Amino acid sequence: MRGERIEMLAARLFGKEDLRVVETAVPEINTDEMLVKVKAGTVCGTDLRMFKNGADGVDISHPLTLCHEFAGIVERKGAEVKYLEEGDRVSVAPNIGCGVCDRCVSGNSHHCKHLKALGVQIDGGFAEFVKIPAEAVVHGNVIPLSDSVSYEEAAANEAFACVYSAFERYGVRPGETVVVIGAGAIGLMHAKLALMSGAGKVIMNDLSRPRLDECAAIEPRITAVSGNLAEYVRDSTGGEGADVVITACSVAAVQQGAFALAGFDGRVCFFGGLPKGRETVPLDTNQIHYRQLTVIGTTRSSHGHYRATLDLIAKGVVDIAPVITHKFELKNTLGAFENAAGAIGLKQAVVFG
Ligand SMILES: [Zn+2]
Ligand SMILES: [Zn+2]
Repeated sequence: MRGERIEMLAARLFGKEDLRVVETAVPEINTDEMLVKVKAGTVCGTDLRMFKNGADGVDISHPLTLCHEFAGIVERKGAEVKYLEEGDRVSVAPNIGCGVCDRCVSGNSHHCKHLKALGVQIDGGFAEFVKIPAEAVVHGNVIPLSDSVSYEEAAANEAFACVYSAFERYGVRPGETVVVIGAGAIGLMHAKLALMSGAGKVIMNDLSRPRLDECAAIEPRITAVSGNLAEYVRDSTGGEGADVVITACSVAAVQQGAFALAGFDGRVCFFGGLPKGRETVPLDTNQIHYRQLTVIGTTRSSHGHYRATLDLIAKGVVDIAPVITHKFELKNTLGAFENAAGAIGLKQAVVFG
């Protein structure tokens, strides 16, 4: 290997609330694998959940390197790898399906029953180097990066792709009124896609006024509403209700209130899942029935979504760079997690020199 490095730093989870930056071996690769030198990784709600609750199979003797949102440079590729060259800038999609089941073959490998993901079941991007397994190499997880896309944007693209997966389902037509509840990185990405599609009005709501203000400062076309949302939506739509309502947070009461905000033939997207043990929510389903609402749930993103959003960033159609509000060095990864846990800023990035 160039540089002959045998040890590297990695932020590894050793158990519940036990994340340490430690020295570990640089992964060895086989002839059908790749080694990526990480340049940026971003913190996602999934990382935070794994940090707070611990993760299956992860303990003091089985640590896991977190981060499924990352980008970097091809450091080395095995002799059998037929695409990309050493030194190429790349973004890495984390989800690895089996490749042969019906879901995988239909382009939904992110819902494969045998799904494993970099940074979730196998070592991910909060490390100087990441091994890309053979299946990921042949499934096209490693994607060449346009010069116009930064490593941080390419990392955050994973979250953007998940948002895009939902966006494809709820759709936004020109002139429509869209309500996004949750003023975080995810909410802002929904808002940006709605505006891209010509939404007439994008209303954003959050309990935290500073977070709302932060989103509205980044995207001034957002109407930030911190008071009575139902009243605002009613008044601003002539009593009709919104065309699209998106819950971009993990709060049961938000899901409960979402139907009432939607107008006739409206679409309601439950983007944020609820914490385990609190997922049963009383809902007024007559609102779905009498107003012909469509309720949409989505999770994760396909390789197709991942590439589509990278393309939107590369072409300058959607600017997600401002969503990354804080940057940390790898040795301060815990600081990124503390920020994320404290809802400070929007998206936290770990960047490598
Ligand atoms: Zn993510
Ligand atoms: Zn499969």
